[in-house]
Amino acid sequence: MSQETLSNLLQENRRFAPPPELAASANVTAQTYEEAAADRLGFWERQAERLTWAKPWNEVLDWSNPPFAKWFVGGELNVAYNCVDRHVEAGLGDRVAYHWEGEPGDTRTLTYADLQREVAKAANALLELGVRKGDRVAIYLPMIPELPISMLACARIGATHSVVFAGFSAEALRTRIADAQAKVVITADGQNRRGKHAALKPTVDDAVASTPDVEHVLVVRRTGQEVAHHERDVWWHDLVERQSTEHTAEPHDAEHPLYILYTSGTTGKPKGILHTSGGYLTQVAYTHHAVFDLKPETDVYWCSADIGWVTGHSYIVYGPLANGATSVIYEGTPDTPHQGRWWEIIEKYKVTLFYTAPTAIRTFMKWGEEIPARHDLSSLRLIGSVGEPINPEAYVWYRERIGAGRCPVVDTWWQTETGGIMVSPLPGVTEGKPGAAMRPLPGIVADVVDDQGQSVPNGGGGFLVVKEPWPSMLRTIWGDDERYVKTYWSRFEGMYFAGDGAKKDDDGDFWLLGRVDDVMLVSGHNISTTEVESALVSHPKVAEAAVTGATDPVTGQAIVAFVIPRGNAGADVDGEEFVAELRDHVAKTLGPIAKPRQIMVVPELPKTRSGKIMRRLLRDVAENRSLGDVTTLTDSSVMDLISTKLPSAKSED
Ligand code: ATP
Ligand code: MG
Repeated sequence: MSQETLSNLLQENRRFAPPPELAASANVTAQTYEEAAADRLGFWERQAERLTWAKPWNEVLDWSNPPFAKWFVGGELNVAYNCVDRHVEAGLGDRVAYHWEGEPGDTRTLTYADLQREVAKAANALLELGVRKGDRVAIYLPMIPELPISMLACARIGATHSVVFAGFSAEALRTRIADAQAKVVITADGQNRRGKHAALKPTVDDAVASTPDVEHVLVVRRTGQEVAHHERDVWWHDLVERQSTEHTAEPHDAEHPLYILYTSGTTGKPKGILHTSGGYLTQVAYTHHAVFDLKPETDVYWCSADIGWVTGHSYIVYGPLANGATSVIYEGTPDTPHQGRWWEIIEKYKVTLFYTAPTAIRTFMKWGEEIPARHDLSSLRLIGSVGEPINPEAYVWYRERIGAGRCPVVDTWWQTETGGIMVSPLPGVTEGKPGAAMRPLPGIVADVVDDQGQSVPNGGGGFLVVKEPWPSMLRTIWGDDERYVKTYWSRFEGMYFAGDGAKKDDDGDFWLLGRVDDVMLVSGHNISTTEVESALVSHPKVAEAAVTGATDPVTGQAIVAFVIPRGNAGADVDGEEFVAELRDHVAKTLGPIAKPRQIMVVPELPKTRSGKIMRRLLRDVAENRSLGDVTTLTDSSVMDLISTKLPSAKSED
């Protein structure tokens, strides 16, 4: 048996130095790593000074009752004031906060002064509905301006919001409303989805039929479609529009609960992650400044995530607004009305900083590079990735086809639980490696450890952990402190266990290797799904791949792969020859141990609504088991499509 915790198979030698102009004027330089290491708490105190506090803290970190942290103890601030009002007071009221683009092509521009008025009105409206500090408000809205406005209105009055992605079912919404005991739900009549009106209100009606805590449903009119009216319902345009544009923001404690957000459910039952105010806002503001090198006077920033996920909370709403940034928000899907819509938006608003997910990048690879090539993307100066490990080939495609070979790519590792970015290149400092998230950011103490909790040497693989508390860390799982301790703090003594595998390369840089639950044990070797998937994606005819381990009488587990060919791959991609070619390609790239037993060519992969591959379902398919929980899938019919592929997929060795 092998002693290694996780094999390190993939070798990657491409390197990309920071562009000299960017490095010369970068917000953060190499020195910051040392400064932060020398005095971590002092470093975070300096970052907290980016914010405006009503009352200073008297202690940076209280870690006397681990793993329950308190940051900036005794400090008071108002998060909404920090994101909006203070910029207006500083004379920046005319700066655009959001360029909003609706799917049908309608637009709205909100300056910081506009946002201040809208947030004040919404805050007054919530107060009129009886919402008070400490109450929970569920928000089930599409990507329209009322979504960030509602979040900020809650923050302003000290209500804790729970945003639920507007693609979730009534049952998913119901359990989230009930778990948080929300008093009010904010929704819309419907949303624009692929040129059609998709109803939202009936889902809410269904959900709140059995959630007695909900007193009111506040409804934004977006599509104009007909909706049922219940006594508890109030139209946004009736209630909010008549409110005063004045509202005085009161300071809240640094540890006041800002929001609950349920994880995306890739591995099973979602957890209600609780984030608080001062530490959270400090880290999201700092990381947005550092990782995106934001110059708020000149940059136009676009994060394509949905605000229903943590990426949208931290890097569409709180981080960018705290920094006074100008951002783009897009309501719709990337292929409406055509597959170049995103690139059209970048061209139209002259976006300089762009942040998206590997799942989107691989989709664009599948659609073909001629689509972005039709647009002028020359305004871009930095591009980022988050959500899954980015396969080296997808990174290079992104860098070349979207970033024109000149924009640095920042691959940012973090989670709903971490609140903000934890491991990432610094664009003016780091020589980027395709596929690597590189190093913990200044002020973050993360490591890769073996199953005994010992730091692995360079070249070794194991578990990603965080060894010291960080300001935007989750404070608990809502209503379940015990599950919080058990899930994150019990695997290794005194360390936060993220659930992800990682390796350190010979330089000590971090490469994320996927979830540890997905690791395959093949003939005594722990092999990561990510490395085999990356090897498959490095074949010129493959756009996307998912890999899982299936029980095997000889090797313990055997590797089973599912691949989606690229659009230009030709017709012969379903035959045995193609499959044999791919198996050999993996064996050549990673070594014979990683050669898949089976490869199935499929049209789609099962993904969560946030676009992440759900490998546990593929494992069920590969082992001919009935499927587990599929409620967080985007489209459960994908599983039928894949299952029909099974009979033709037989072992060849
Ligand atoms: P659940 O915890 O309910 O299964 P989830 O983990 O998908 O859902 P998120 O918090 O949205 O929910 O995702 C965080 C996870 O996404 C990380 O733990 C990691 O597995 C993956 N991830 C995010 N960014 C990266 C990245 N840059 N590289 C590799 N993996 C990443
Ligand atoms: Mg997770």
